[in-house]
Amino acid sequence: MTKNTLDFGLYINRESIDTADQILVQNPATFETVGSVPNATQKEAKLAVDAAYSAFSSWSKTTAYERAELLEKWFAVIEKRTDEIAAVLTKEQGKPLSEAKGEMNYANSFLKWYAEEAKRIYGETIPALSGNKRILVQKQPVGVVAVITPWNFPAAMITRKVAPALAAGCTVVIKPAELTPLTAYLLADCAHEAGIPAGVINVVTTKNPGEMVDVWMEDPRVKKVTFTGSTPVGKLLMRKAADTVKKVSLELGGLAPFIIAEDADIEEAVNGVIQSKFRNAGQTCICANRIYVHESIKDEFLSSFIAAVKGLKVGNGLDENVSIGPLIDERAVAKVQKQIDDAVAKGAVLHEDSTIHTDKGYFMKPVVLSNVTDDMQCMQEETFGPLAPISTYRTDLEAVERANATPFGLAAYVYTQSLKKAFWFSENLEYGIVGVNDGAPSVAQAPFGGMKESGLGREGGHYGLDEFLEIKYVSMKV
Ligand code: NAD
Repeated sequence: MTKNTLDFGLYINRESIDTADQILVQNPATFETVGSVPNATQKEAKLAVDAAYSAFSSWSKTTAYERAELLEKWFAVIEKRTDEIAAVLTKEQGKPLSEAKGEMNYANSFLKWYAEEAKRIYGETIPALSGNKRILVQKQPVGVVAVITPWNFPAAMITRKVAPALAAGCTVVIKPAELTPLTAYLLADCAHEAGIPAGVINVVTTKNPGEMVDVWMEDPRVKKVTFTGSTPVGKLLMRKAADTVKKVSLELGGLAPFIIAEDADIEEAVNGVIQSKFRNAGQTCICANRIYVHESIKDEFLSSFIAAVKGLKVGNGLDENVSIGPLIDERAVAKVQKQIDDAVAKGAVLHEDSTIHTDKGYFMKPVVLSNVTDDMQCMQEETFGPLAPISTYRTDLEAVERANATPFGLAAYVYTQSLKKAFWFSENLEYGIVGVNDGAPSVAQAPFGGMKESGLGREGGHYGLDEFLEIKYVSMKV
């Protein structure tokens, strides 16, 4: 389906479709052009739904075993091409190659898991009120699903939605982020190679997401929208879904608190923050955004943490030993810098030099701030960059109250060696995901998702499959 290696047409109905205009994809580490994808209009957006709608009638009737077999084949093709796709992912998104490979494996684990789970879409029988009645509960695929994904995990955000959708018997129209669309087309190329039938998976890209996605939001044939991205766009889509009462799943922004209790293993806590904070240069929705350290261990924690941060190498993700790649664009760099300036102006102490190197890439060195207070921007707005703000607390209750004092509720972290504290914190934090002594909690079999304004619904595990299934009951007189 590809023309040149990384110049793609739209992928609709197993065909490559050209548009008049292309979007050039830039490497954030070098500013070089990596490839190009089509700039679709409303016309192509509708074509994609036509294809998915027509494919739904046969795909939804396949057996779970047939769908499982195709998902397994797709998994195998991706596994074979992991290194090739990971290199493209690093070039278009910036993350270090080892992280890109890690993302590919994580992304692919959803195909494997849902290939198996497709076979466990069970119904129920419910005792009726009279002897001549039977009540049967069945699960059926919701229909055509619109999948809209962000740039920070160009592979995983797609498979986390598409694997359960296909396992359930749904067909999909996918709109990946315009900054990192190449990985999405490569995943579709793998699906093509695996023999996923025409119209089951369709990919379109555009420079005008609002305008193009409106076609999907207004089309009654699209029964569900599953979105990962910023909270404002998620709210907009939720409003637009109301007119045709589509099902909605949202994975939105976070502002994760990372609490380090007085009895924490400091070395483990330092490793946990490094892993959570600086993975993907801090551009993850579950990344530690606010670090709360018990005042009694602040000095010890800070000196170990700064020593660890000094060991992180910033550079092109394709280079050896790089642990922090570039940020995605100029806006991202400016946002982090604004948060640093605001914090320093309000009294925060800057421990690491925050030099920005943007002459040949959107690079930013990791920054550590202490003496941080909750009125600073970095404690109120998602940072999405390599800035680690550290604040102290006195009591567990104070830590939880401050951690919960936000409209967000995606991920939270607690480091403690006390079982009692582990339970107490995890039960009182208003977050969909709590990592206890664990800075990397995401896996295919667990229900990833947020409370409050961080989202609706869950991705992963058997909960993730329910999002793509309608429940029908049949009351039968016999
Ligand atoms: P974004 O909301 O700008 O874009 C996400 C997607 O929505 C892109 O494909 C974009 O083209 C599309 N989009 C933009 N405007 C649209 C509109 N008006 N109508 C329809 N679609 C539109 O977000 P982003 O900057 O790409 O991603 C960063 C955000 O994503 C962060 O807030 C981050 O926390 C969040 N995120 C959340 C999760 C999660 O699982 N909760 C995972 C990754 C990222």
